[in-house]
Amino acid sequence: MNQAISFQDIDAKLQDAPPKDILSYALEEHDNIAISFSGAEDIVLVDMAVKIRPDIAVFSLDTGRLHAETYQFIEAVRKHYGIQVELLFPDAAAVQKLVKEKGLFSFYEDNHQECCGIRKVGPLRKKLLELDAWITGQRKDQSPGTRANIPVIQNDKVFARPGESLTKFNPLVNWSSAQVWEYIRMFDVPYNSLHDKGFKSIGCEPCTRPTHPGQHEREGRWWWEESTKKECGLHIDNVKK
Ligand code: SF4
Repeated sequence: MNQAISFQDIDAKLQDAPPKDILSYALEEHDNIAISFSGAEDIVLVDMAVKIRPDIAVFSLDTGRLHAETYQFIEAVRKHYGIQVELLFPDAAAVQKLVKEKGLFSFYEDNHQECCGIRKVGPLRKKLLELDAWITGQRKDQSPGTRANIPVIQNDKVFARPGESLTKFNPLVNWSSAQVWEYIRMFDVPYNSLHDKGFKSIGCEPCTRPTHPGQHEREGRWWWEESTKKECGLHIDNVKK
């Protein structure tokens, strides 16, 4: 990227661009870039990206607490696209310490930040130290409490290597859930079978539940916490201090 042009300038130019054009730009600008993969949005990004770069790097966080259906979905994606999905695991000693001291469900009592910190943020931080840029499936309307203002492109100061920049692309930022699902149906893209059982936003098994018609998708995640805190730490820059 031309350093004379700011992230804000590029974001302003890309705001109205279709997601595949944003992805093309991201992949043209960066060789050392990967898609962070977990949900319906991310599979749309993978489907678009393999048409531009067939060996696109994809990683996913295996927290050890995912649904069986999610593991089956990851495997289906690997086979369908002939790509590798790198699974990132938490530090075993940190998980052991947490479980020994607080049990397996401490997040219901003292919020999800500690467990997410160990099972998600730690492995992500380690992975992002290797990359120049990453791509996420964040959408503005996914979480009114935390995602309403996210840009298409941003300088990720949270996870950047010290003294360097890490670019974060959110190509689906202006898409609705309906557009994501229209794409999935139109291009016969694999998806997590939990979506057919009433789950809209899918995370770890103990922290995700189906939502009723009319409920916002984020209400199925960490339902015992305030809406403004519903980030697992991967996108902690969305949470107002
Ligand atoms: S979503 Fe729940 S189980 Fe998964 S890492 Fe966070 S607190 Fe732990």
